[in-house]
Amino acid sequence: MEHQEEFTPEQSKILEMYVSNLDSNIFVLRNLPEVIKGALFSRYSRSVLGLRSLLLKDFILNEEMAFDSIVGEPVTNAGDEQFVAIKKAQNFYDRILDGYGDDSIGELGGTHLAIENVSMIAAKVIEDCRIGGSPLEKSTRYIYFDQKVNGKFLFYREPVIMTSAYRDLYLETCDMLFETYGRLIPPLTEKIEKTFPKEPDVSQFAYNAALRAKVLDCLRGLLPASTMTNMGVYGNGRFFESLIAKLQCSPLAELQESGRKSYQELSKVIPSFVRRADPTHKNQLSYFEYQERLNHEISTQVSHLKELEPMNEAGVRLIDYDADAPEKVAAALLFSGSNAGLHELQEHAQGMERIEREKLFRSITSIRENRRHKSPRALEHASFTFEICADYGIYRDLQRHRMLTQEKQLLTCDYNYYLPEEIVGTEFEADYHKAMQEAKVAFDTMAKALPEEAQYAVPMAYNIHWYFKVNLRALQWICELRSSPAGHPMYRLVAQEMAKQVSQVFPEFESFFGFVDYDGYQLGRLGQEIRLVEKMQARRP
Ligand SMILES: Cc1cc2nc3c(=O)[nH]c(=O)nc-3n(C[C@H](O)[C@H](O)[C@H](O)COP(=O)(O)OP(=O)(O)OC[C@H]3O[C@@H](n4cnc5c(N)ncnc54)[C@H](O)[C@@H]3O)c2cc1C
Repeated sequence: MEHQEEFTPEQSKILEMYVSNLDSNIFVLRNLPEVIKGALFSRYSRSVLGLRSLLLKDFILNEEMAFDSIVGEPVTNAGDEQFVAIKKAQNFYDRILDGYGDDSIGELGGTHLAIENVSMIAAKVIEDCRIGGSPLEKSTRYIYFDQKVNGKFLFYREPVIMTSAYRDLYLETCDMLFETYGRLIPPLTEKIEKTFPKEPDVSQFAYNAALRAKVLDCLRGLLPASTMTNMGVYGNGRFFESLIAKLQCSPLAELQESGRKSYQELSKVIPSFVRRADPTHKNQLSYFEYQERLNHEISTQVSHLKELEPMNEAGVRLIDYDADAPEKVAAALLFSGSNAGLHELQEHAQGMERIEREKLFRSITSIRENRRHKSPRALEHASFTFEICADYGIYRDLQRHRMLTQEKQLLTCDYNYYLPEEIVGTEFEADYHKAMQEAKVAFDTMAKALPEEAQYAVPMAYNIHWYFKVNLRALQWICELRSSPAGHPMYRLVAQEMAKQVSQVFPEFESFFGFVDYDGYQLGRLGQEIRLVEKMQARRP
């Protein structure tokens, strides 16, 4: 689905200097200072507008910004000297790339790729590329998603379904979910406002923002995975090359199309860095074949599996860890400061009493003043595998963590769904259940024939199954960040649970989770919104 923004001919003339495409839902920013590109991308998380509209509104047409003096004269036509120079540089670079012969050279240049009006499913696949890319997405926790454009809710019309017998069922189901979501926002807002009224000393701005986040935390689960969102990715050439390769090999039409468009647009701005992602390039062709064979091999192996129990109850379970983890972490902590062998240090640590190791760990955790004081790399000697069954909304939040190994299974309606406590026993509960059950019937009907495409109809409240294999250092970061009050109550629970389960198995590791917040909060975002208002007031002249 292309973009819906309207630009005047004058606006289009200006915009085309700064974006690689005025019509496509995928485009690259160019000829803009890094600070403007970064600021624009950060706006994605808190705006319903597309980036071209934001560029016009917040910068180009915003007199306060004095945009022209920031950007100066951009490069436009081919005849322009600088343009020729860039061409020359590309040819020179191509020779180096060929000569250098190592892919890592592709990390030396990067750009900002805007990806708009893609489904939640596509956004997750794009954000699943861990190294070299930094994504930012429109937030379901702060932005209302019930706008209609040309009388239609914004969800992806999946082409295979749209040309199948399930077309009407799919459209009716997604419309019903959006309609229920939109209809429940005002009354639930009123109800929560009555339950948690504003304190006199709290600004209306901060209170409204915290209230909206709480309401959307409750209702975002009604949105189907086909819901369209906007996101931006700042990445280096090597990152984009592997991203495009992955997208073009996906079984889903939307991702194949996003891969093609990304290649087209990136080729306009960083051609040398993505030239091997050209669908006709020999590397890409062999990668296609390899992926096809790989998927075939795995599905053949899976088809021979005897029936095994799924993890079908919502929760977190620690299923694997190294029993000697504390000894290995203790030994590694002592390594860099000594000249002893690591093996000898591990033997030494094996001989230490647990209380001695605990004292060692506390000596380095007690000096941390905040969660950004990360504990040393030695913690990477301990790793844990968690299986998690929680709603797709929570998966979407926690999946953003890159310093770990994770995989998920297909979206389904088989493992029940998240029912927010704020809705239990209210006049909204029946509507919520009805929407979930109707969506399940639709999904089950479509999934037999179209298991991949049927995922688009799954409401985000349905639980999905995934695993995290993570080392103690990354886990410290995740649990302390994601248990903070501003977090969604359900991912706070997952973060608290992971820290608790590790501390139960290894009490001597407990102090590494010193900044995990185990408290509960009614208007979790209020504290952060109040601080935001204070910062804004402090910045005012
Ligand atoms: C309260 C809250 C609100 C949020 N709102 C939004 C939102 O509206 N929209 C949205 O898209 N996301 C949102 N996020 C997600 C957030 O932007 C991060 O993607 C997410 O928290 C993962 O954090 P991380 O990058 O530190 O994690 P990890 O990926 O776990 O990274 C761990 C550490 O590795 C380092 N690191 C990893 N990769 C890189 C890299 N490429 N460059 C530099 N350093 C790197 C960093 O030091 C990082 O701290 C929100 C998160 C929170 C907690």
